[in-house]
Amino acid sequence: MWIGGTATAGGGPRIAVANPATGATVGEVPAATAGEVDAAVGAAAEAFAGWRRTDTAERAGHLRRLADAAEAGADELIALLTREQGKPTLEAQGELRHFLAGLRYYAEAATKVRGTYQELPSQFGPAYGLVVRRPIGVVAAITPWNFPLTLLANKVGPALAAGNTVVAKPAETTPLTTLRVAELAAGAGLPPGVLNVVTGGPETGEALVGHPGVRRVAFTGQTSTGRRIMELAGPALKHVSLELGGSDPTIVLADADLDAAVKNIQIGRYWNCGQACLAPKRAYVQAEVYDAFLDQLVRRVARYEPGPGETRAEKPKLRIGPLHTAAQRDLLVAQLAEAVERGAKVLVGGEAVEGPGYFFEPAVVVDAPADSRLATEEVFGPVLPVWKVDGVEEAIERANATGYGLGSSIWTRSAVAIDRATRELEAGVTWVNQLHYGYDELPFGGTKQSGLGREHGLEALGEYTELKSVVVGGLA
Ligand code: NAD
Repeated sequence: MWIGGTATAGGGPRIAVANPATGATVGEVPAATAGEVDAAVGAAAEAFAGWRRTDTAERAGHLRRLADAAEAGADELIALLTREQGKPTLEAQGELRHFLAGLRYYAEAATKVRGTYQELPSQFGPAYGLVVRRPIGVVAAITPWNFPLTLLANKVGPALAAGNTVVAKPAETTPLTTLRVAELAAGAGLPPGVLNVVTGGPETGEALVGHPGVRRVAFTGQTSTGRRIMELAGPALKHVSLELGGSDPTIVLADADLDAAVKNIQIGRYWNCGQACLAPKRAYVQAEVYDAFLDQLVRRVARYEPGPGETRAEKPKLRIGPLHTAAQRDLLVAQLAEAVERGAKVLVGGEAVEGPGYFFEPAVVVDAPADSRLATEEVFGPVLPVWKVDGVEEAIERANATGYGLGSSIWTRSAVAIDRATRELEAGVTWVNQLHYGYDELPFGGTKQSGLGREHGLEALGEYTELKSVVVGGLA
């Protein structure tokens, strides 16, 4: 763990960190006890007193130096990420780039926070009002295992830029990169206590969320966990942001650039072995191009070769890493089996590969019932169900028939269809002829059961501050 600027061994039970490609143990961390969580929150609270008063340019400098240190140590972080998460090196490199970009975006943004000036009516002579933004306090940053680095930057970047301090809790299966980031931050001169890391599972997370010293909780993970976080944070009226699960629809109309659509849907769905919140997880394709779409997609998906992230596949094969845990693979197998039992057809892949490692052959599925698990649940693995639709009307209706509302996309050149989709798709983001990708510049988050609040963009920076109105009189 990393508490108050130093590595802390912790007295709780040990958690082994395993490489999902081999099952080999690659590290060990403690499950933080309630006392250790208290120490981390205490260190963050103590550091807050000084950090909140630092000049914004100074805070920006710290974020920049952290990014520079992580860039200098990129090879080690990338290797560590591949070992603990399982993703191929190429994808780990992409994640590191996004992590650096996120920190640098908020380093820039730190110095651009503005308030408001307002003339006021007053019986007692001239007066004016100011709306200023104040940091909130200690932030609990709880992250999942699918993108341990980028999801950390999404929270640490705006939190620190706005003058808050952080206690991060990475997923129990991917704590090593987060711990290394905290160490790099200390080495780059971040004051002790500004960024702390506690390790452990749900129990540690609950101790952190429920701690009275935590004023804001930034959570990314499953919808069911998000509900629990809200329950725990509710009594103390803590600020909460929840980035939760998704089942993003993608709509492909007959006039789309089909090559671009297939390519980007393929990348979006199968990147990170399908373990991405914002991936296209249900495809609705207009009848005229349905066969051509499937033909191209199946040919592309057949190129994947499951294997350890450290090794490359020989061209034209493409490397796809393992699923992260046995439980993730079992869930995916069960979701697919249920659809197949009810008439779905698997056009390519769909089999779990013999271990060691939780490998799975990426699949494309058709004819899954509209109420099958593939359609109604979040599918967190490399399986894409595709359905034929008449046109944009039917596509939007079916796209919205889900409890989730994270991302969505449409592939078409029709301005009318684009207008319909951007107005009517129930999601926090709609990509038009674009890859499902979380831009640092734009607010990202869900509607419906996909979450509350936004990460990314200046809007997220705002979510790490509280507005305070100041009324000034006595001027005449
Ligand atoms: P998870 O909810 O199981 O765990 C996420 C984190 O919460 C982990 O650190 C975990 O230890 C902790 N946690 C678990 N139970 C807790 C509790 N009761 N109290 C406090 N903390 C607790 O999620 P996961 O399986 O690790 O991640 C996958 C999920 O994350 C998927 O549903 C995915 O869609 C979602 N996700 C969402 C986004 C987004 O931006 N919307 C991004 C990435 C992943």
